[in-house]
Amino acid sequence: MDRPALFIDGDWVSVPDDACVDVVEASTEKLLGRAALASVADIDSAVAAARRALVPWGAMDIAERSELLSRFADAVRARGTETAALVSRENGMPISKSLGSNGVAPALAIGYYAGLIREMAMEDVRPAFSGGNTLVRREPIGVVAAITPWNYPQALAAMKIGPALAAGCTVVLKPAPLTALDAFVFADAALEVGLPHGVINIVPADGPAGAHLVSHPGVDKVAFTGSTGVGRHIGKVCGELLRPVTLELGGKSAAILLEDMDLEDFVAKLPDVSLANNGQTCHACTRILAPRSRYSEVVDAVTDVVHGLRVGDPLESSTQVGPLVSALQRDRVLDYVALGRQSGARLTTGGVVPKDQATGWFVEPTVFADVDNSARIAQEEIFGPVLCVTPYSNEDEAITLANDSEYGLGGTVWTSDPERGLRLAARVDTGTIGVNHYGLDLHSPFGGMKSSGLGRELGPEGIAPYLRYKSVYMAPRQ
Ligand code: NAD
Repeated sequence: MDRPALFIDGDWVSVPDDACVDVVEASTEKLLGRAALASVADIDSAVAAARRALVPWGAMDIAERSELLSRFADAVRARGTETAALVSRENGMPISKSLGSNGVAPALAIGYYAGLIREMAMEDVRPAFSGGNTLVRREPIGVVAAITPWNYPQALAAMKIGPALAAGCTVVLKPAPLTALDAFVFADAALEVGLPHGVINIVPADGPAGAHLVSHPGVDKVAFTGSTGVGRHIGKVCGELLRPVTLELGGKSAAILLEDMDLEDFVAKLPDVSLANNGQTCHACTRILAPRSRYSEVVDAVTDVVHGLRVGDPLESSTQVGPLVSALQRDRVLDYVALGRQSGARLTTGGVVPKDQATGWFVEPTVFADVDNSARIAQEEIFGPVLCVTPYSNEDEAITLANDSEYGLGGTVWTSDPERGLRLAARVDTGTIGVNHYGLDLHSPFGGMKSSGLGRELGPEGIAPYLRYKSVYMAPRQ
């Protein structure tokens, strides 16, 4: 399982043994494998390789580039089942979720952009206001630094690699050390299909080397997914450099339950909407806003369902909640549970390490009722299986509570009247929202408002950040 070499310029570059990181299995706390971490000098080599590859890759005939990318997507897909299991072992994601998110979605995203670029006009001629014409050209923006977190490592990387490579950019992918092993699957696939050297480079690294990549003079654009704190810092650095950046950051989304909702339907979908990947999901609806008229009914039903979730080995197909990614993350979540207790909220289930799971970084799925929306457990991203239920009196108050958040990434409205759901969804300050469910859609833009980020990924909009425009004015013939 060891991956002791980086992938730079189409080749494996070994690093000294002490430059490797231990990747530990979340459910057993045993060593899963050792992965190479890049030094500052390795980052320099990766950026240099991406720069050398940029002009030929960007100039390649689009049909040929699209064909190569489709084959790359196929090669990623062929490894999907194995990759999904690897990620589950790295970060604790239940295999039933991982098969879709890490096994299928990455290839779908890359394949989608391979198809999209064939249909996109890369230039058009517009009659100029003052006579003559303007040729408007879309060009690749250049070398992309793609920085990804550990929670959905494959899909989030593919959401950057796909549009970037399709646009004609080259990529330096910097995955998180906690899930460094799975990232090299993209290198295996690139080698198999013969992607030109330097088009994609894979250099897991820690903070300092990652910071070097962000400010590297050879980088033209940064695509970051991760925490709001780090995103803010990266945004500042890119602002100073006037370097384009997209930021996909944290969330604390609300599920607004209207009094006419189907409670049975809501709780059936709750594990997916609010607790996916053990709560380690940026758009999870971890705040549940319930009408006072049905409040105790909601608290009971949510508590019952969460209490009954199957916690265990993420590789078991029946497991609904696995361990958290690390001891640090588990302790962070338990600290939030303590804060919740101190806040006066009512713990209705969970809040402890499961008795039969002494090994692995498990936390019992947890529900707090009677949560004041100003409490830290309602305002801060916990990133674990902890839900807050808060009562509201009328629709306006529900919207005020939903919007009383630093974040604006996901959300849901639950009602038997979809038109009413749509009207309410329009009033929530968020980048994405669902009526009676939530689904991240490959064909539609995904991203946040407020402290949840800047810019969008996915859909046709997701390729725009990887393009720059050039207008060439052509004077009328004399
Ligand atoms: P993180 O911010 O700690 O790390 C994300 C990545 O940034 C990692 O690769 C890390 O090594 C790197 N990094 C850290 N400091 C850096 C620096 N100074 N310069 C460059 N790179 C640096 O986040 P995390 O803990 O890995 O992931 C969890 C967070 O990601 C949560 O807040 C979650 O909401 C967010 N997230 C957001 C989305 C989204 O699409 N909006 C999706 C998934 C996760």
